[in-house]
Amino acid sequence: MLSIQNLKASVEGKEILQGLNLEVKAGEVHAIMGPNGAGKSTLASVLTGKDNYEVTDGQALFEGKDLLDLSPEDRAREGVFLAFQYPVEIPGVSNINFLKTALNEIRAYKGQPNMEAKEFLKLLKEKQKLLEFDAALANRSLNEGFSGGEKKRNEIFQLAMLDPKLAILDETDSGLDIDALRVVSRGVNKLRSGKNAFIIITHYQRLLEYIVPDYVHVLYKGQIVKSGTKELALELEEKGYDWLKEDSKETE
Ligand code: ADP
Ligand code: MG
Ligand code: MG
Repeated sequence: MLSIQNLKASVEGKEILQGLNLEVKAGEVHAIMGPNGAGKSTLASVLTGKDNYEVTDGQALFEGKDLLDLSPEDRAREGVFLAFQYPVEIPGVSNINFLKTALNEIRAYKGQPNMEAKEFLKLLKEKQKLLEFDAALANRSLNEGFSGGEKKRNEIFQLAMLDPKLAILDETDSGLDIDALRVVSRGVNKLRSGKNAFIIITHYQRLLEYIVPDYVHVLYKGQIVKSGTKELALELEEKGYDWLKEDSKETE
């Protein structure tokens, strides 16, 4: 589904991603961990297509198409969801209207007609039930005055509604409390299937007690320096990242 090859990217002339490789197949959940400043959020930003990030080498093939050649909107239309893609508060635009517009844009991109109101409401109810979410959230203005926890719930709700093929969640800087942690992990666990894939970027091993990843990768100095299964996360919890620093010094 996603094949990142030798990805190099700079911010303000400083190379942050230094030849990153990652393969993600449908049905897989990948966790990306790593110390502060390793480039985890930069990876998410580059895959989203945020300004200020200059890709200098490599590619990120999503179902054969290089994501890096597409506008952020087209990446979303292709089926890539990035949490905090719409972090800004948009007063006056209800969640429902936002989701309706986003869903219809994806359909138009695929040459499909707009969703009928009845069908949309059915989907809305189905997803609210699945996630045990309060209907009131959907009617609120987009992120306006949402608490941190509500933003999190809403993000998972958007994820459920848009049903992307690939979801990238950067949980590093969100100050996840235990409730938010549960919302995210329950949502991901209910939504994961053989058809989609998740990349969960996290600083905390704790999240992975709730979402059991198929693979764990360590991002260090802009490269994936180690990959393994969930046991690797436990090893990192126990030993920290310093042993990897020593390893990489030896090979430098
Ligand atoms: P992580 O998410 O792994 O903690 P980041 O990707 O946020 O790491 O940051 C990696 C490095 O890139 C850091 O040294 C950070 O200071 C730098 N960096 C990231 N974004 C920017 C930016 N917009 N402007 C300047 N430096 C940045
Ligand atoms: Mg950081
Ligand atoms: Mg980060």
